[in-house]
Amino acid sequence: MATIFTKIVNGEIPCYKVAEDENFLAFLDINPNAKGHTLCIPKIEVNRLFDLDSTTYEGLMRFCRKVAKALEQTVPCDRVGMAVIGLEVPHVHVHLIPLNEMKEMTFQHKTSMTAEEMAELAQQIQLNL
Ligand code: 5GP
Repeated sequence: MATIFTKIVNGEIPCYKVAEDENFLAFLDINPNAKGHTLCIPKIEVNRLFDLDSTTYEGLMRFCRKVAKALEQTVPCDRVGMAVIGLEVPHVHVHLIPLNEMKEMTFQHKTSMTAEEMAELAQQIQLNL
């Protein structure tokens, strides 16, 4: 069965899109640790990061870097943190999280944003790509 992220790639489930190219997609996490929390995924459905072929792995890292730079320009933060977990969704995704405090990397500290705020933020990040 397709993962929820493959459904997002295929447009069957909506997302607040931040960046896209032929092989990768970035969109805002629906339950963000901090404002601007973004997920970067390969469009190809692979469960574990280190099972990606090396071309896709390296392409994903380059894509993450580009998105992180746009995040830094858009969201006031000390730096952008990066994490790969994958215990919830079995489709490779890199969390990029604008950080001001360590607790924002714990995945227990959450922030709430309205749909309008999410849509506006995604657009602002896109403009800084
Ligand atoms: P992990 O698999 O790394 O533990 O966490 C999965 C992440 O995906 C969580 O941060 C969760 O909020 C996010 N997530 C789960 N389902 C959706 C969804 O349908 N849309 C978006 N944008 N994010 C999701």
